[in-house]
Amino acid sequence: MSLRSIFLPLLTLILFSSCSKVPISNRKQMHLLNEHDLIQMANLQYEEFMTNAEVLPSNHVQSKKIQKIGEKVQHAAESFLKKNGHSHRVDGFAWEFKTVESEVLNAWCMPGGKVCFYTGLIELADNDDQIAAVMGHEIAHAIAKHGNERMSQQLALTGIMKLSGVGQKDSTETKTAFDYVFSGSASLGMLKFSRVHETESDKLGLVFMKLAGYNPNESISFWNKMAEQGGFVPQILSTHPSDETRINDLQEFIDTELDNYVD
Ligand SMILES: [Zn+2]
Repeated sequence: MSLRSIFLPLLTLILFSSCSKVPISNRKQMHLLNEHDLIQMANLQYEEFMTNAEVLPSNHVQSKKIQKIGEKVQHAAESFLKKNGHSHRVDGFAWEFKTVESEVLNAWCMPGGKVCFYTGLIELADNDDQIAAVMGHEIAHAIAKHGNERMSQQLALTGIMKLSGVGQKDSTETKTAFDYVFSGSASLGMLKFSRVHETESDKLGLVFMKLAGYNPNESISFWNKMAEQGGFVPQILSTHPSDETRINDLQEFIDTELDNYVD
């Protein structure tokens, strides 16, 4: 395949796609997939996942905890977005906070605001602040639209989208792209993000949790605790690598920048 045949469609792709800037980092990002379609697919996946999972009833003490922390962080995040002219980032979101019975140390938030916490992770956390740290980070991935961007990057790299399909952005094309990127096995809750995405979510997450009234220093304690889980790698770390650099970056942001965003 000639360079021309690869780049011409890609150039047109970008012209038809939406570009926006991520809050705080001000990084420009490219979205090739229709966000509405992506959210619809995420909602279906969420429903399917919950049908097969052991979901705790809404009056269970752990469910209530996750619901309470989730709503607080969500409201703080939405206020921050409104104040800074980014409200469009939660267009079409229908937040839900569910807790599933599982020893797996994991939590995630799909595009569109569907959140899942596993009891294993809740039990490992020392306090609500640590749960809020994870909540803030996961919600930040959805608000920063990292899912759409991650899929768009994969698609642009592999050049599998055809000129006509992407320009129209119809849901059939999006579905094809979705199937390709995930090969039908992974879910939107299990996406592997880039280091850039992780850093952005760390910072946004700290802002959201602090605005919600939680102690951001507990994020350091929690990620250190996760990194110390000897013997096996907690699932959340397979998609959220936690190393010394990351912990140092978190601490530096707390010490030098965080207050600029929470006044
Ligand atoms: Zn992450």
